[in-house]
Amino acid sequence: MILMDSYQSAKETLKNAVNIVDLIGQYVQLKKAGQNHIGLCPFHSEKDPSFTVSGAKQMFHCFGCKKGGDIFGFWMEYHKVSFPQALEDLAEKYHVPMPKGTFDPAEKKTKELKDVLLQINETAAGYFHDLLMSSKKGTPGRNYFEKRSIPKEIIMEFKLGYAPNAWDNLSGHFKGQDLAKAAEAGLIIPREKGRGYYDRFRGRVVFPIFNIKSQVIGFGARVLDHSLPKYLNSPETPIFQKGKTLYGLHSAVQKAREQQRLVIVEGYTDVLALRKHGFSEVVATLGTALTKDHIRLMKGYIKEALVVFDSDTAGRTATMKSLPLFLAEGLPAKVMILPDNDDPDTFVNKHGLAGFNALLDRAVPMFDFYLDFKVSKGGEMIENQIEILKDIIPILLSLENAAQQSFYIQRVAAKIGVAEAGIMRELRRWNDPRNEADKKRALRERLNSSQAIAGDDMPLLNLLIHHPAAIRDLVCFNCKILLSHPLVIEIFDQMVDLYKEKTSFSAADILEKMETKPAGQYLREAMLAPSIYSETMVEQALKEFEDRVLKKSLNDSIVKARQDGDLESLNRILKLKKVKGQPV
Ligand SMILES: [Zn+2]
Repeated sequence: MILMDSYQSAKETLKNAVNIVDLIGQYVQLKKAGQNHIGLCPFHSEKDPSFTVSGAKQMFHCFGCKKGGDIFGFWMEYHKVSFPQALEDLAEKYHVPMPKGTFDPAEKKTKELKDVLLQINETAAGYFHDLLMSSKKGTPGRNYFEKRSIPKEIIMEFKLGYAPNAWDNLSGHFKGQDLAKAAEAGLIIPREKGRGYYDRFRGRVVFPIFNIKSQVIGFGARVLDHSLPKYLNSPETPIFQKGKTLYGLHSAVQKAREQQRLVIVEGYTDVLALRKHGFSEVVATLGTALTKDHIRLMKGYIKEALVVFDSDTAGRTATMKSLPLFLAEGLPAKVMILPDNDDPDTFVNKHGLAGFNALLDRAVPMFDFYLDFKVSKGGEMIENQIEILKDIIPILLSLENAAQQSFYIQRVAAKIGVAEAGIMRELRRWNDPRNEADKKRALRERLNSSQAIAGDDMPLLNLLIHHPAAIRDLVCFNCKILLSHPLVIEIFDQMVDLYKEKTSFSAADILEKMETKPAGQYLREAMLAPSIYSETMVEQALKEFEDRVLKKSLNDSIVKARQDGDLESLNRILKLKKVKGQPV
């Protein structure tokens, strides 16, 4: 019980301490729109912002995907964690004391495992780093970084390390239980024959990979000679997923926010070389192509991504493949083209920051880059046009913004020498079946949305949200009969229950009770709509609702009497209605 109380009190303290606009603003670009803030939803792909955050009501709601809730709801959805975890994370972030042991057993286990993996990685990172910095065994690593002219400050900041060329350095360092944990973290591997473990990383410089909280979640390691594989990463673990991780993001975030951009390079040493020259807003993928998750991760901080184009074939293909992802996520992207045989590391060491910035200024929009590349492949005129259109039409179709689409159509037309009308015709042909589905989807969305709720439901709900005290009168004259939408009825019933419990309550109290239900979605949307009735209008509104209740119950009685053939009752009601001055 004491536990539950302190749990509840931590929740309340956090609710009072954390402003939802500030919290979400750290992950989503928000801009002020009237009373609310809006931005591109981090939970679904969209071009126009329908993600709404209300500071006054301390909640968020996406009109597109219908996700919403309070600070905890956001944290759970964004970081894909349970409620207790969200509570703990936020308590830690905002220095609110939290009782221990609030997790259910399964969650507790996952959480413990993650903590163990983080801790073992931290130990291993320290071990590799110390070897590099101060052990005789670390000499080859020191030589390597010296040759790459990576200075001590950078080595310290990124906690770079060295794994000597032996089978049992790290595995010899860990004892007892830690061995099994290190194996789970992918640092050491059980021997196939016999007992014990051997080291995964041998004879390599080691790059710890940090999450946004600057915790070590995995490692990348590079050979010093020409042996293969050149790079080796930690395997995927509960705390490490390559497709969701960007190297250097933890230390790039602040500058990226200020500059509203991030440069994406391929290698660890590219990041480090740029950092050394004072360029901070740079991250690297971990030997994988850019994913949708990477782009979403960046989207919260920046307005533009700059992909450094590696002139080899693999690099080019990867850049090409990322275009549809950037377009789908609505994050503008440019391509930076380096001279042949240079990578960002060698380039910035040769030409300095000024040279790199000059390249940055000449970066081209990714779409143009894509088109130029396709056109440059050449070939028979007509055949080439067909090939290009085949590749580019799906991309054009993925642009939901009509202005953007027509802009790119013009570009394509001019570039490949096909009339705009011809491209439009191709688009329509391609588009037809999807069009039907889209129309249906749009219609369904409109029908489902709160605006479609007919009659008295929305005004009544609006009145109750902004003037909860009105519930007393509304219950008195049985206004429930005016409601027809099942979700509004559910919300109303909840309000009545709460009113019976405690006479004073707010819409937020109701929301808490139905957060995850479909009715919760409706309630959030209704809460974000402006108030229809000012304080002085409430009394009048109540009177009108009361009249409508009366009218409706009379009409209902008439219908019933007619159905039952009860003429006597019918006559009586019609007379009553005349007295009331209502047309029959
Ligand atoms: Zn959404």
